[in-house]
Amino acid sequence: MVERTLCIVKPDAVAKQSTGAILAQVEQSGLRLIACRMLHLSKTDAGRFYAVHRERPFYGELTDFMSSGPIVVCVLEGEGAIGKWRDLMGATDPAKAAEGSIRKQFGTNVERNATHGSDAPETARWEIGFFFGEQELRTE
Ligand code: UDP
Ligand code: MG
Repeated sequence: MVERTLCIVKPDAVAKQSTGAILAQVEQSGLRLIACRMLHLSKTDAGRFYAVHRERPFYGELTDFMSSGPIVVCVLEGEGAIGKWRDLMGATDPAKAAEGSIRKQFGTNVERNATHGSDAPETARWEIGFFFGEQELRTE
């Protein structure tokens, strides 16, 4: 099934000038970039985006980190895009991520792990809508 998923290049990877290298690997995987933008989240908006983790002990630090600098948000499209992008990223903790995965190559620690990917169709739809309007998502 052709799916869409949200990809975020997080502030650590943008600051390290790794955005292009990461997006090149996304394209080489066969996933298609259908929308892309750089922006700087406020702490409040980072909190809204990660509201699902509100009760977790890392929520405060995570939202500080995600609002610490610019991010690049992209929508990826392709067959099984949600799972494909999560596989390509690797495990949340770069130390546990597979060799060759994005988080292994570009991540620093469990928080500063270079990228975000949606985890299911419902969350993908909500996360894409958080950043993009209909006009930006038009593919024809
Ligand atoms: N995170 C963290 N500490 C943890 C687990 C997660 O700082 O112990 C951060 C990390 O940046 C991660 C994000 O919170 O990407 C969301 O966590 P989630 O469990 O959803 O992992 P993901 O879906 O990003 O792999
Ligand atoms: Mg998650």
